[in-house]
Parts: sequence; C-alpha cells; structure tokens
Amino acid sequence: MQNVKNILRAKIIIRGAVQGVGFRPFVFRLAKKMNLPGWVINSANGVFIEIEGEMKSLNHFIQKVENGSPPRSFIQSMETSFLEPVGFDKFEIRHSDDAGEKTAFILPDIATCPDCLHEIFDENNSRYLYPFTNCTNCGPRFSIIEMLPYDRPNTSMKHFKMCEKCQTEYENPLDRRFHAQPNACPECGPQMEFWDAYGNVIARKHDAILFAVEMLKSGKIIAVKGIGGFHLMVHAGNKSAISTLRERKHREEKPLALMSPTIGLIEEHCQISEIEKHLLISPEAPIVLLKSKKNTAISTKAIAPENPTLGVMLPYSPLHHILLREFGFPVVATSGNISDEPICTDENDALKRLGNIADFFLIHNRPIVRHVDDSIVRVMANREMILRRARGFAPLPIQIKNNQKTVLGVGAHLKNSVALSVGESVFISQHIGDLETQEATSAFKKVIHDFENLYDARPLFVVGDLHPDYISTQFAKEMEKEFRQIQHHFAHIVSCMAENELDGEVLGVSWDGTGFGADGTIWGGEFLTATRSDFQRFAHFRTFCLPGGEKAIKEPRRAAIGLLYELIGNDIFRGQQFHPINSFSENEIQILGEMLRKNINSPKTSSVGRIFDAVAALVNIRQTARFEGQAAMELEFAIGDFQTCEYYPFEIAGKNPCVVDWLTMIFAILEDLKNGIALAEISAKFHNTMVEIIVKIAKFAGRERVVFSGGCFQNKYLTERTILRLREEKFKPYWHQRIPPNDGGISLGQVVATIYKERNEKCV
Ligand code: ZN
Ligand code: ZN
Ligand code: FE
Repeated sequence: MQNVKNILRAKIIIRGAVQGVGFRPFVFRLAKKMNLPGWVINSANGVFIEIEGEMKSLNHFIQKVENGSPPRSFIQSMETSFLEPVGFDKFEIRHSDDAGEKTAFILPDIATCPDCLHEIFDENNSRYLYPFTNCTNCGPRFSIIEMLPYDRPNTSMKHFKMCEKCQTEYENPLDRRFHAQPNACPECGPQMEFWDAYGNVIARKHDAILFAVEMLKSGKIIAVKGIGGFHLMVHAGNKSAISTLRERKHREEKPLALMSPTIGLIEEHCQISEIEKHLLISPEAPIVLLKSKKNTAISTKAIAPENPTLGVMLPYSPLHHILLREFGFPVVATSGNISDEPICTDENDALKRLGNIADFFLIHNRPIVRHVDDSIVRVMANREMILRRARGFAPLPIQIKNNQKTVLGVGAHLKNSVALSVGESVFISQHIGDLETQEATSAFKKVIHDFENLYDARPLFVVGDLHPDYISTQFAKEMEKEFRQIQHHFAHIVSCMAENELDGEVLGVSWDGTGFGADGTIWGGEFLTATRSDFQRFAHFRTFCLPGGEKAIKEPRRAAIGLLYELIGNDIFRGQQFHPINSFSENEIQILGEMLRKNINSPKTSSVGRIFDAVAALVNIRQTARFEGQAAMELEFAIGDFQTCEYYPFEIAGKNPCVVDWLTMIFAILEDLKNGIALAEISAKFHNTMVEIIVKIAKFAGRERVVFSGGCFQNKYLTERTILRLREEKFKPYWHQRIPPNDGGISLGQVVATIYKERNEKCV
C-alpha cells in the first residue's frame, strides 16, 4: 500500500522590521531549496507566507525563517497556524496588495531583543543596566498605547522628553532606534524606586533593584511593576516564603509561574523539547508548561502541588533581565492580584490592593495604560496551544473574509475576553479573567470602551452568551445596540472553525464545565453538527443531577454523587462503598439525599467536565477542588507514563439527538476500583473511553471534519489521543492553536457566528 503523506498548509504572519530588507527573496530561496510550494506576500499588515509540506519540514522551514533571516530584518511577532492544504504546485512571490485595507495594527508587547540585551550588560554602553532600554525591534507596545496612531505623544512615554542623544537616534533612519516610540536612556527616561509597604522610598535607580534582590534572598515577597502589570515575586527555592505568599494571596494550591534568569537554569529543573525551547525564547516569551524534573533545588511541591508540570518563562523586559541576573536563581512570578482579580497596573493602587501581600514594592514611573497578563502555552501534538492569551499575542486578530460588519462579542463568565470585528480582522482582547468581583467587572467594561476607542469602532451588534445571568450578557444587553446571543458550545466550535479557516459543515465536539443550553438546561458534553452560522445538537451525554448546583464546581464529590444517584438511585447511601459519600458527614448525606429525591437545587447537566470531576472523586483522587479544573487535571496526571489502548464499555442510544450513556463505563470503573487496579490504568482507560465515544459519534454523524473545543481539551492526553484515533479512522481532526479552547475563545466565536448568521439571513 502506498504511504500517503500527511501534507499540511502552514500560514505564517510575520510582523516587524521585515519589509524592504530582502525578506521575500530570502523566503523564496529557502522554500525553493526545501522544495516546498506556496507563496509569500508583503502587505501593509505584515509579511504573509503560505507553504505546504509535512509537519516536520514545515517546522524546519519556520525555524530557518526565524534564525536565518537577512541582516537588518527583525521579527517582532510570528504567528503560525497549521491548516488544510490547498495544493500549491510551486513557490512564488506574489505582488504586494497595496490597495488592501490598512487596518490600524497594534503590536503586542515584544520581549527584549538580543541587541538591547547586549547593551544593558555592556559596561561601556550608555544604557548599561538601564531597565527601560528598547529599540524598534523590542519593547512595550500594547501596554503603553493610549490611542492610534502609534506615536510617542499617544503613549505613556509622552511624560518623558527625549534627551538630545535619544532624539538623534529617534530621527536617524539608519539607527536601530529610528522611530522607536518608547526610546529612552538613563538621562531622560523612566526610573526605578524601591518602596516599603507604606510607600516610603528606600532606594532609587539601580540600587532599587539591588535592594529587591537582597530582600528576595531573605525570603521577602516583592511586588514588581513590569510591562503589563505587577508580579508578586519570591525566591523559588524558599518553601516558607512561597507558602506565606500562598496564604496572603488566598491561593491555596493553584500552580504558580516561575521566571528563570536563563534557559540553562530551566533545563536544570525541567525537560524542554525543541518546540518548547523555541517558545520560551520567542519575542512573545510566554509561560510554557514544562514537565518538571525530580529533586531539583526549587520547591516544586510548593510551587505546583500534585502537578508534574511547571509554568516557566524567561525574563522579557530589561528590568526582569537585570533583576534575575543579579538574583541568579529562578523566582516565583505570579500575577500581582488578590485571588482572581485583574492584575494591578498602578503603584498607588498596588500599595492599597497588594499592601497585605507584598513586603516591598519595586516600581517605576512609566505608566501602564492597560493590564496585560503573561500568556500561557502548552505544547500538544507537537504544536503550541495557547491556554491564556495576553502579552505577546493580544490584540493580534483572526481574519475573516469579506466582512464589513462591526460586531462586539463580550465573551462568557469565566476566563473572559472580548472580541471586536473591524473589517476583515477580529481583534481579540487580552485575558480579562473571571467576572466574579467588582474589579474584574470594571476591568471588563474598561476593555470594551478601550477597544471601541482604540479601533474607533461603533459596533452594530453586541453579542453575549445565552446565559441570562452572566454579567457579560447583561452588560451587552444594556449597551443599547442590536443585541444578539450565541449558544456557548456553538461559540466554542465556531471559534475553532474560524482559526482553522473552516467553512461548511463539521461535527463539533464541545466539552466543558458548564454552559447554558438552547433548551435552558446545563450543557457541557455536546456533539454539534455545525456551520459557522448554525448548529444542530447531534448528540449529548446522558444527563445527571448536580446536588447543590454551582457548588459542584468546587466539590467534585457532588458531581460523583449525582452520577451514582443516576446509576443506582437511593441505594448509594447504604453501606460505605463510595469514597465521595464517605467524605461527607452523616448530616450532610441526609441533606444531599433529600435534595436528590425531591429534586431541590439539583439541576441536570450533560457536562463532560463534571464527569471528569466525578470520576476523579470516585477513584478518590480529589473530593474538593481548590481551583476550577483541579480534579480533572489530577485525573489526567494520574496516567503518568502508563500506556494502554483499552477502554471501558459505553452505549449510544436514541436519535435526534443521540444520547451517550456512560452507565456501563462507571460500573466498570467501580469494578476496577474494587479489584485494586492501579489509578494510572483506570484513568488511562477512562480517557480512552472518552476518545472512543468521539470516534463512535463521528462515525454516526458521518462528517469527515471533526472540530473539538471547550475547556476539557486543555487536557493533553485527551487532545492528543483524540487526534490520533480520529486520524486512524480516516477523519480530519481540528483543534485549537492560537485561540484558547477554554472560555477565553468564546468572544471570537460569538463575533464570527453573528457575522455568518447575518449573511445567511440576508440570503433568504
Ligand atoms: Zn531592542
Ligand atoms: Zn535619553
Ligand atoms: Fe465553555
């Protein structure tokens, strides 16, 4: 049998100083040499490349473009998406489309470039140890722009008048700082200060950093003002300092991120693949989730309890480089906020909000115009998947063809982001967070106004979730624009279709914690046959009760009891055979029983997220969670290196929609548990079952293209195995890359679905 090659199309968008420096001929020669067909074009919005080949050669090509680009060109941002091939036969340079619409492009904040890095550690340079060094190729962008066009008077650098030397650089077309808007030097630019918790100045300039380093060494918590907001930093090897930070921040077990001075030091503590390394040192410089090594000098258990991964980033501003080099060891660098509030951006506000957490403040006087958190990326199936989209990526757009309508999507409730279409670009905001607090809600409103002003856009439609109680939905409704609603799981699928450039009909697998269903019940285990404008509920998981409703999110044992009740009814309360039941007191069990029997505050759900939680509780991995998704994560981690293709039995019943019945699967899990089968094996078999369910439904649905989205697909094992099995069965799987599978992607789905719905309605 002939081996059919797995050809993909890579779409690469490069922004930065790559125009007019022989970049296109360079790309052309490289593609020719590697024998890859496609094209390159230079447009007002950047250099676009589309190229086809096998994954391996495409990755090779991408690395060569990055590392071997001609002198004087500099890549500030490079976005790659892997898409369906279209069958190019040769490589060509296409003509520039100068007539094309010039969208007001705002670049994300860019990590310090090698040239600037060299300067700040060169004793003979005038910018030696200067924490605000930047050039045309690097530095803050999105976090300092007040309005367009991007000129110094429209940024928070307007408060600093350039000295003669800086001005000369700024005006010289041959200088690396020609028109570098945030250009600054120690003579004329922003400066550091070190404050105590009352705002008294203890030290200034470089001494401020040295003081911070001394205090970090002695186990103190330092609030550090960076690019898009404050971090809270402590010594990553000091267990008690880390637990103090956790206590004060009310962050019990959620993993904390690390910043490491060098990649070498990361390698001492984590395993790094080529792709992961590439991400760490990229201009986006995100937090990358890496597999941690055992027995290292950092307090892994305190940083990420029960978690085999560590979130690590490299320094991305001169301040971070200087601070970390002086410190010489990784630090915990977590968002400067209380629990899930938005990150602090202003030093006086930080004194108030972080005064009870931080012992000292390392601050500077360059104002931060908008909050931008660190982005989080995990590599799955040899590709990056963005889990939190903020610094380095926001507000870069996703393209949709032939659009004229201005539509605003306000997102969901958790991990909120907003999206705005302007012409053919849909701009997606930075991560805003869970709209659970006053601060988060006002940040949400601020980002909406900010986006409307930045892009000078007046939305025709404002789109919210179907959930009537979401703050985002209510706000959208009150905006006095044409108000639309898009069902949550449909929005997930459309967001994934949009970033994969899919049109026509697909099977969408939309699995998450909860979302308001089209029939008013709680959905979360959905199979939708969908186009960009409409969907049918093709199948869903058998429903079960969640005693206590919302409380089940924090208490996986409640989901487990709901599941068991659906299986065996009242008998579950007899005897002591189930871990979730044993974790409650007699009295609580009485109440839970009443609730289920009388159907009080026990809404029904088809949520797969809750099934993951329930299984974690059944096998006693976790009964109560400290943060959303913790139980499901630990269930995934329980697999470890265990390998099996086995899965549990399940049934599919009914039609329009079909119902996935997990009854036999849960019985089999309970049986395995009784027989003392290892958790790794049970978990692997459970995950495999979920994948086989997708395969089976895909066969029933008979759509070649299967798109999967929703928070459950942050699970690496689930995602990778779904891809593998669908391919084995000759389906074409599509999953997320640049847009998060979690609710951070909902706003994009809302905007795109609304635009397509409007198109369809016009046709009728
Ligand atoms: Zn630079
Ligand atoms: Zn200067
Ligand atoms: Fe969701």
